[in-house]
Amino acid sequence: MVVLFSDIKSLECFSLTSVRRGPQVGIKVLDGQLCSLLPGGIFFAKKCNSLYALYMQIKENYSLKELTTMKVGGPAKYFAEASTIDELKQAVDFARDKEVEIFMLGGGSNIIVSDSGFDGMVIRFLNTGREIVSEDDISVTIKVAAGEVLDDIVAWTVEQGWCGIENLSYVPGYAAGLAIQSVNAYGHDAGNVIESVEVLELATGDMQTMTNEECRFGYRRSRFNQEDKGRYVVLTITLKLSKKCMPVLKYPDVVKWFEDRDHSDVKLSEIREAITEIRKRKGMDPHNIKSTGSTFKNLLLTQEEFDILHTNVQKNYGEEKAQALVELKDRFARVEDLYKSQTGVSEIDRDARIKIPTAFLFDKIMNLKGTSVGDAQISHKQAIAIINTGNATADDVMQLFKKIRQLVHKQTGMIVTNEPELIGFSQKELDNYFGLQ
Ligand SMILES: Cc1cc2nc3c(=O)[nH]c(=O)nc-3n(C[C@H](O)[C@H](O)[C@H](O)COP(=O)(O)OP(=O)(O)OC[C@H]3O[C@@H](n4cnc5c(N)ncnc54)[C@H](O)[C@@H]3O)c2cc1C
Repeated sequence: MVVLFSDIKSLECFSLTSVRRGPQVGIKVLDGQLCSLLPGGIFFAKKCNSLYALYMQIKENYSLKELTTMKVGGPAKYFAEASTIDELKQAVDFARDKEVEIFMLGGGSNIIVSDSGFDGMVIRFLNTGREIVSEDDISVTIKVAAGEVLDDIVAWTVEQGWCGIENLSYVPGYAAGLAIQSVNAYGHDAGNVIESVEVLELATGDMQTMTNEECRFGYRRSRFNQEDKGRYVVLTITLKLSKKCMPVLKYPDVVKWFEDRDHSDVKLSEIREAITEIRKRKGMDPHNIKSTGSTFKNLLLTQEEFDILHTNVQKNYGEEKAQALVELKDRFARVEDLYKSQTGVSEIDRDARIKIPTAFLFDKIMNLKGTSVGDAQISHKQAIAIINTGNATADDVMQLFKKIRQLVHKQTGMIVTNEPELIGFSQKELDNYFGLQ
């Protein structure tokens, strides 16, 4: 039996007895009860257990490897791409029917998927759109869809002459990441310019708008990747940008790039160009290098923790390196003060005062560049990045992570943590990778 879905007008249940797989639709199995019809010809399979999606294809055992920038990992049990809220809800309903966990995937640039994959439903929400909400002489408020490519949004704001996210140029992923990860780079922090975030709660299907304060932004964190992880889908992000630009050019590479220039003359497009180029030179180019960018988080330390680090560096690596550590600490404190005076906000968390770039520890003190396990290697260009030099497995990456973490702990007393999120690993695997002995 062939059913033309657009012809179905009734809301009553009826039965379907055969399978039709039209090329334009993703119907997998039809052999049961079609239970509800929504406006626009979208069908739910809530109680039917048989009809999947009309306009959206749900794939089974779908490889996630190519959807991540690290290019490791196994398949998702189910996978769907949604571009509207209706499709998103269908995919969520499907997962509920199957009683499987949901993982929302963006550009896969901040995740490592286990070799056995994810035993649930992976949904990519790729809505698009951007608009000006309001503007005056000094600022503009824009709303962007979560599924817009982040760097396209940055390019757009730069072209328009709006400032606040130009230093986030060339960060991979989608706009949703701005809010989820509170993306931060070269002195710009998305959490400082986000006004509000529109979300859909997975459990209830309710939509709500959260203010900046309600999102609880911190250094590369928000409620969406902390206490409310997996609870909401980010739908749109509203940002308030400035029309009176004051370039934030405080990081050493950027300072060097513009060393003979009066900073007040530097154009937004030049900043974007400089940061893009610096990132490429540092191996932060997802088009050429398989990685998640930073695999390790920077150390944010209290004075007491810094003293432990200093003592251990002195003992294991000598006075000269311990002195370099103190100089670095002072330099970053000055950078932080400058940033605060320029922007009125603090970049690093309130409760941890001292920022020590993990790259400095790994490179200048511990000399870890090039350390490898299988095809996973500590990048020669960027010491906090594990890169996949060929056919690394997720296990290679995580064994290298473990090796480095244990060594750092043994030699410096510090505990380094992972920046990317780990997907699909068993508790036993995690206990192994995170063991310090
Ligand atoms: C080369 C390279 C350089 C990088 N440089 C930086 C940098 O300078 N600064 C920085 O902050 N980060 C950096 N990153 C990390 C990464 O790009 C950011 O964290 C980015 O925001 C992740 O976005 P994504 O779309 O790839 O998200 P994914 O990695 O796919 O997902 C990240 C998290 O967001 C969740 N998620 C995704 N979309 C949604 C949604 N719509 N609703 C709810 N949850 C969702 C996922 O479930 C997951 O928890 C870098 C990564 C690479 C590979």
